[in-house]
Amino acid sequence: VFTASTVAAAPEDPLFGLMKAYREDPSDKKVDLGIGAYRDNNAKPWVLPVVKKADDAIHNDPNLNHEYLSIGGLPDLTAAAQKLIVGADSPAIKEKRICTLQTISGTGAVHLGGLFLSKFHPQKPTIYLSNPTWANHNQIFSNVGLKIAQYPYFSAKTKGLDFDGMLSALRAAPNGSIILLHACAHNPTGVDPTEDQWRQIATLMRERAHFPFFDTAYQGFASDAWAIRYFIEQGFELCVAQSFAKNFGLYGERTGAFHFVSAGGADASAANANVASQLAILQRSEISNPPAYGARIAAKVLNDPQLFKEWEDDLRTMSGRILEMRSGLRERLEKRGTPGSWEHITSQIGMFSFTGLTETQVKALRDKWHVYMTKNGRISMAGLNTNNIDYFAEAVDSVVR
Ligand code: PMP
Repeated sequence: VFTASTVAAAPEDPLFGLMKAYREDPSDKKVDLGIGAYRDNNAKPWVLPVVKKADDAIHNDPNLNHEYLSIGGLPDLTAAAQKLIVGADSPAIKEKRICTLQTISGTGAVHLGGLFLSKFHPQKPTIYLSNPTWANHNQIFSNVGLKIAQYPYFSAKTKGLDFDGMLSALRAAPNGSIILLHACAHNPTGVDPTEDQWRQIATLMRERAHFPFFDTAYQGFASDAWAIRYFIEQGFELCVAQSFAKNFGLYGERTGAFHFVSAGGADASAANANVASQLAILQRSEISNPPAYGARIAAKVLNDPQLFKEWEDDLRTMSGRILEMRSGLRERLEKRGTPGSWEHITSQIGMFSFTGLTETQVKALRDKWHVYMTKNGRISMAGLNTNNIDYFAEAVDSVVR
């Protein structure tokens, strides 16, 4: 029989546990470099001005109601989300071989894609994740019954991409494996393949008939959707999980999209419509229909050329401040002569830096300096600002020596 007393306690989520410990630390020196959410120079959450503008307009619209969206979500959002990923002139749109459902942010998109592949892929292949990857990938894919394997990604020695290791693992994976790829601004490492490396990855994946599953949670922070577009041009059938949490600052509104792109060919559009119909059934049984508010905001901004421009300005504000923190941190460590090379702080991109600090050093930073980061040494660059960067550099210097 089932009773609550047979259920063992689950471990605390490492990231949310870290946030809790930070909140409970009474020190006024404490620094939060844990969660990947943008903070302004005063360490406060930032509502993008363009989001505030769209929000006000929607809020004041006398015709606004709170009806359900359709199963696939808000059409103005899903159409704009497609264009953002594949480009407005993409043949995939013209040939009607891309279908898109609005999801519960990026997490929901990863889940819907995993569930779909688990149910409809006749071989139910193993999914290969980069080592390391966003920790939630492991839980999401195993929860839908997919087997998980890893491919090497980060070289501890160069603090860059372990490209040879990655290619060898993809070559050794059974034909037709699913390969999860971070489209840009890899979490947690901040290390992306170059365009030339993406071409080589694509060539190898075609040889091995692997299926690409792109996860894109940081579009606009680093490069754009180049890799996804390149794979589509190369004729791959693929899927994409897209989040608007970070690039719109809509974290809690849970705004995202899942796309399935079919390869070209005479019956591509019909095949894609079948995929769409099955995705709709999965969506219906899980969430019925996605949340409306964040979708309305993102759709308004994406579909209005003037607001779109303002959005790009806001993205530049965020990525610009992060870049300043990267160069500021590197400069301070180099000036102090902190042992080791710190070049990777500025060569890594996106929201995170994989510092190379060891678990012991991370622990010392927390215990002695009230600095909070994940134990793999990842820091969220947006947690640094002109008020705490000197303190952080001093803290790193002290634990590294
Ligand atoms: N994928 C990656 C790689 C991420 O880093 C994140 C956010 N941390 C997500 C997906 C999904 O985030 P959300 O559900 O908040 O959109």
